[in-house]
Amino acid sequence: MFGRAPKKSDNTRYYEILGVAKNASQDDLKKAYKKAAIKNHPDKGGDPEKFKELAQAYEVLSDPEKREIYDQYGEDALKEGMGGGGGGHDPFDIFSSFFGGGSPFGSGGSSRGRRQRRGEDVVHPLKVSLEDLYLGTSKKLSLSRNVICSKCSGKGSKSGASMKCAGCQGTGMKVSIRHLGPSMIQQMQHACNECKGTGETINDRDRCPQCKGEKVVQEKKVLEVHVEKGMQNGQKITFPGEADEAPDTITGDIVFVLQQKEHPKFRRKSEDLFVEHTLSLTEALCGFQFVLTHLDGRQLLIKSNPGEVVKPDAYKAINDEGMPMYQRPFMKGKLYIHFTVEFPDFLNADQVKALEAVLPPKPSSQLTDMELDECEETTLHDVNMEEETRRKQQQAAQEAYDEDDDMPGGAQRVQCAQQ
Ligand SMILES: [Zn+2]
Ligand SMILES: [Zn+2]
Repeated sequence: MFGRAPKKSDNTRYYEILGVAKNASQDDLKKAYKKAAIKNHPDKGGDPEKFKELAQAYEVLSDPEKREIYDQYGEDALKEGMGGGGGGHDPFDIFSSFFGGGSPFGSGGSSRGRRQRRGEDVVHPLKVSLEDLYLGTSKKLSLSRNVICSKCSGKGSKSGASMKCAGCQGTGMKVSIRHLGPSMIQQMQHACNECKGTGETINDRDRCPQCKGEKVVQEKKVLEVHVEKGMQNGQKITFPGEADEAPDTITGDIVFVLQQKEHPKFRRKSEDLFVEHTLSLTEALCGFQFVLTHLDGRQLLIKSNPGEVVKPDAYKAINDEGMPMYQRPFMKGKLYIHFTVEFPDFLNADQVKALEAVLPPKPSSQLTDMELDECEETTLHDVNMEEETRRKQQQAAQEAYDEDDDMPGGAQRVQCAQQ
C-alpha cells in the first residue's frame, strides 16, 4: 500500500484513549466513545484536548480500513496516508453525529450549539458622475454604525452576568394567540420584545454604564471609497466586516453600489461612449468640423475628410477615446458619434435651380409627356406617424372592449361589481 515501509510507530494509544481492548468490536467502540465523549465534552467542563483525542481515536478505529492500517503501522502511517491531516474531522461533528446532528445537552446549554450568525450586509447606493468613472475618484463617506461596547466587551453588564429573560423564559421567542373566529385560533411565534430575542436580560443595577445594557454603542466612521477608472454602473465596492457589530455575530460587510448619474452629453455602453451630433445639410454635404469637450476637459477637434458626405443616422467612431477599461486604464474603448442631418424645410425657386445645376439629374425628368398623361394626380399630406399609430391602437382597444361587453362573462363582471 505504501512505497516504502513506514517505520514502526505506536499502535495501541487509540485503544487506550477509548479504554477498550485491541480486539474490541464496533459496538464496544461506539459505547466506549459515547460514554467518554459525554463525560469529557467541553460544554460540561471537560478538557477540549481530551475530547479531541477521543474523536480522533474513534474516527480511526471505527473505520475498518483505517483501523487495519493503524494496527499494522501505527499513527504515523495514517498521517502519511492521509496527507498529513490525520483525518481532521471536527471532533464536535463526530460527537453530534451520535445525536442526530444535535447536542444531547439541549440547545440552550451548548456554547457551540448556538452557531454564530452572520450579520447583515449594509448596502448603500453611491451616486457617481460619468466623469468620476472616467477619471477615477475617491469619496469620503461618514457613516454611523454599532460596535461592541468596549467597556463590557459586549456583555451589557458590569459583572459579565446576565439573567434568563422572564418574558420568554430564556427561549428568545414568545407565542401569541390570535382569535380568528369562534372556534379558530392562530398561534404565532415571534422574537421576544423584552430581550430582543436573545433570551437574556440584565439586572438594572448591573447594567454597563457605557452601553446601558445594549451591548453595542454607536460609532461614527469615515470610509474612503476609491472609485477606480472604468468602474461600471452597478459595480459593488465592499468593505468587509464594516457593518454593524453585534454579540455572537460575524460582522457583515458595507457594500457600496455605484449608480452612474445620467450625463447630458455622453452615453456609456460598457467600454464605449456615444455622443449625438446634428449637422446641417450643408455640413453633411460639404464637410464639417466641431470641437467636442471630453470627460477630462480635453478639446477634441472632430472633422470630416475632404469630399466626404455624411448620411442621416450614420455612425462614425474615434478609437481610444471611449471609457478606460477597469483595472487596465491605459486601454480605452471607442467614442461613437451618431449623426443627425437637419434638412431645410423649404427652398425657393432660385435655390432649387442652383442645386439642380450641381446635383445628379432627377429620375422624374426622364418621364415622357405621354407617360404622364396616363397617370392620376394625387396629393401628399404631412403626417405624424406616432400620432397615427397611437390613434389606431386606441381604436382597436375600444373595439375589443365593446365586444367583451356583449359577452355573458362581461355582463356577469358588471353585476358582481354592483353588489
Ligand atoms: Zn425574552
Ligand atoms: Zn457596555
